[in-house]
Amino acid sequence: MTANNILYIEDNPDNMRLVKRALEAKGYVIHGAVDGLSGLQMAESIEPSVILLDINLPDIDGYEVARRIRKHKNSAVRQVSVIAITANTLKGDAEKALEAGCDVYMSKPINIRELWARVEGFMPIDAISNLF
Ligand code: MN
Repeated sequence: MTANNILYIEDNPDNMRLVKRALEAKGYVIHGAVDGLSGLQMAESIEPSVILLDINLPDIDGYEVARRIRKHKNSAVRQVSVIAITANTLKGDAEKALEAGCDVYMSKPINIRELWARVEGFMPIDAISNLF
């Protein structure tokens, strides 16, 4: 496990490109998954420090991904920080994401400064000090 690894589960290539570029500029290593099930597999193989999670995915939705992360057999996966990122702006979506096990909820369009702050806030101390 590399401490500054981030997994982004997102089916929209434009968002993937934007977020990858923004976070790589800060020294993070971004792994991308395009659906929920491959995201869950990568969560176990990579053991990232943070998972960025789109809610509208082509197979299982992000809420279900979050629930499976929180009851995962691998404790490193269960404990990962999860930031939900979604275009759903209906009232209750944030609560739904938190109930499913996400730590925080961000809405699209993605604000890069907010993203940097959120990710940094959830990184383990050793990962952050490695970046400076
Ligand atoms: Mn999507």
